[in-house]
Amino acid sequence: MTDVSRSDRVDVAELRDGLRGPVHTPGEPGYDAARTVWNGAIDRRPQAVATVSGTADIVAALAFARQHDLRVSVRGGGHNVAGFGTCDDGLVIDLSALKGIRVDPAARTVRAQGGVLWGELDHETQAFGLATTGGLVSSTGIAGFTLGGGIGWLMRAHGVAADNLVSADVVLADGRPVAADEELLWGLRGGGGNFGVVTSLEYRLHPVGPIVYGGVIFYPVERAAELLRFYQEWTRGLPDDLTTMVIFLAAPPEPFVPPAMRGRQVVAVACCHTGTATEAADAFKPLREFAEPVADVVGPLPYTALQTMFDGSAPHGLNAYWKTHHLSDLTADAIDTVVERAAELAALSPFSAIHLHHLEGAVSRTPSVGGAFSHRNSRFVLNILGQWTEGDPDPHLAWVRDTWEAMRAHASGDPYLNFLGDEGSTRARAAYSAEVFARLTALKREYDPENVFRLNQNIPPL
Ligand SMILES: Cc1cc2nc3c(=O)[nH]c(=O)nc-3n(C[C@H](O)[C@H](O)[C@H](O)COP(=O)(O)OP(=O)(O)OC[C@H]3O[C@@H](n4cnc5c(N)ncnc54)[C@H](O)[C@@H]3O)c2cc1C
Repeated sequence: MTDVSRSDRVDVAELRDGLRGPVHTPGEPGYDAARTVWNGAIDRRPQAVATVSGTADIVAALAFARQHDLRVSVRGGGHNVAGFGTCDDGLVIDLSALKGIRVDPAARTVRAQGGVLWGELDHETQAFGLATTGGLVSSTGIAGFTLGGGIGWLMRAHGVAADNLVSADVVLADGRPVAADEELLWGLRGGGGNFGVVTSLEYRLHPVGPIVYGGVIFYPVERAAELLRFYQEWTRGLPDDLTTMVIFLAAPPEPFVPPAMRGRQVVAVACCHTGTATEAADAFKPLREFAEPVADVVGPLPYTALQTMFDGSAPHGLNAYWKTHHLSDLTADAIDTVVERAAELAALSPFSAIHLHHLEGAVSRTPSVGGAFSHRNSRFVLNILGQWTEGDPDPHLAWVRDTWEAMRAHASGDPYLNFLGDEGSTRARAAYSAEVFARLTALKREYDPENVFRLNQNIPPL
């Protein structure tokens, strides 16, 4: 962490004059709230946070950053686990005040500004019985999520969020506000925050809910290996309407969990089915018959309730360190390894977990030429989440690293961009196929040759 001494600070008076939105600087009320992000382990001190009120503010903020040679962070929802939404010494362009949303029910599209969160977008689109693939936690920003691909409950029916991005307005590195042309849009569909500040995003919508069928079925952790063997077969035949994930977690202290099991390690399948009640019941039957659950809270519920189901597991300010792998498949050795590594969770933190997201369906069917999001043929994405509220971070970091290392032999070697930490250029590059990375590099050269937007999973222009 670098603190900027007063004499080294740029004079932000000019920035303030040029913006309608507020500018927060060290020592002023609001600065600490403005510089923090979701991950409590990130403690960075920018020279200023410009909470922009629109495109003109972004143009002015970028010009100021260029003039003073300041590093630029772009913050949408602030959920990036590596903390790219804030920085030391530089200027944060904070989009959190940009909340405009307009649904066009006839065209089945929605346009939303870059500071909108998934809970806010779902709230509006569900008023029309529509939705698009969004995040599993409602406070995640739509912009960062979509630019990194975006896997969620609707992905097997409708593709990842990036597949549903139909247009975007962007302020480029040189300060030009533009509507993304076809090639830039291709890059925004998975290429991260490399090409400009996205002021608004337009999505394709789909009829969803308002009632869907989903929730979580919890099993004793002793059945984990069996469950995963069942799961890797069962998921081969699932309808696209059904998206599922396996979670190793501490059972929540909720009334639906038997008192003796609360806080104890369990393995669970979380799911969402967007078809009819009968279709959903048929699809869940083999899962329900697999074993006696600890608790079964799968049933009809509003889509917006499903979209907030995990909010309690991810409070703002939680310390987090994640590592990720794509898995081409779930082999017997992979299952043994993940079960072995999950056994250590009990000694760590009730917030730590392992998530195994099942992809396929529309994710693998969508032509990969449509956007930069890569590795569409993986069956699963593994996310290893070290999360703690206090104390020494080292045991959490060590468990995540060791688990990731142990799973390496069973993985494709490629990370999923949205779960990737600050692991350097080689890992960021591995999030793409070679062909996609070459095309992204060319796009970066065209739109950001000086790498103004480098506080991200960076695509170097050279
Ligand atoms: C609790 C939690 C749950 C999550 N669940 C999921 C999930 O279900 N599925 C999934 O795929 N991912 C998930 N993620 C990962 C998440 O998608 C990424 O962290 C994503 O980067 C968050 O976007 P954001 O706008 O909230 O983050 P920010 O930290 O604000 O932004 C992250 C980066 O995105 C870029 N960016 C953001 N906004 C803009 C913009 N308007 N213009 C240009 N660049 C921009 C910038 O490079 C920025 O550094 C989750 C993360 C958390 C913490």
